[in-house]
Amino acid sequence: MPDASALASVVETRLAARYGRPHWKAHAPALDELVATILSQHTSDMNSGRAFAELQARFPTWEEAAAADEAAIAQAIQSGGLAKLKAPRIQRMLHAIEAQTGAYSLDWLRDLPAADARARLLALPGVGPKTAACVLLFSLGLPSMPVDTHVLRVGRRLGLIPAGLGADAAHAWLDGLIGPARDAIYALHLNLIRHGRTVCKARAPACGQCVLSDRCPSAFKTKNENLP
Ligand code: SF4
Repeated sequence: MPDASALASVVETRLAARYGRPHWKAHAPALDELVATILSQHTSDMNSGRAFAELQARFPTWEEAAAADEAAIAQAIQSGGLAKLKAPRIQRMLHAIEAQTGAYSLDWLRDLPAADARARLLALPGVGPKTAACVLLFSLGLPSMPVDTHVLRVGRRLGLIPAGLGADAAHAWLDGLIGPARDAIYALHLNLIRHGRTVCKARAPACGQCVLSDRCPSAFKTKNENLP
């Protein structure tokens, strides 16, 4: 663990030197972020953005969305794909929030320790570790690393995430590794994604152009070899 923590610090520093260090700024209110994250599952940012905009245009408040026919919600979000799955998921989640708190808001989570806020999010129907981490980090500004496909792949190749550790478990693992520095987590998250899209691609990673190649146990494997 100390070695992995030191490696995480090196990775954060070098990727920030390569790509810049993005500074955290608040995204949407927590409930908006939660719905947007559900809509983003298994589709592109553009499609999920259109679905979210259409949902808000047709149902300007979450109270109206919660009371609407499920079919009307599905129709509003159809540009985001899997609308018949996502519509009931969103409504169940809205109903649970209102039942627990009496309001359609999650911004009060900001005042809780990150672990407590995460537990409250994970207790909601349809909310898993990645969705919870997105809300915690992007909206509430709490230290939590969302593990998407790029973070998981690059993290495994670098040895930041142990082989065999699944995506869900990798959230808690990385949070323990990096510590409570919200801005470092934010920068590392965005830069791992950027690195995964441009250099450490799923197929044929460009190890010869990688600023981490001297610290990476997967460096310079042949492109015909299936990297983890
Ligand atoms: S050295 Fe290669 S496998 Fe390792 S992080 Fe860089 S691109 Fe990915």
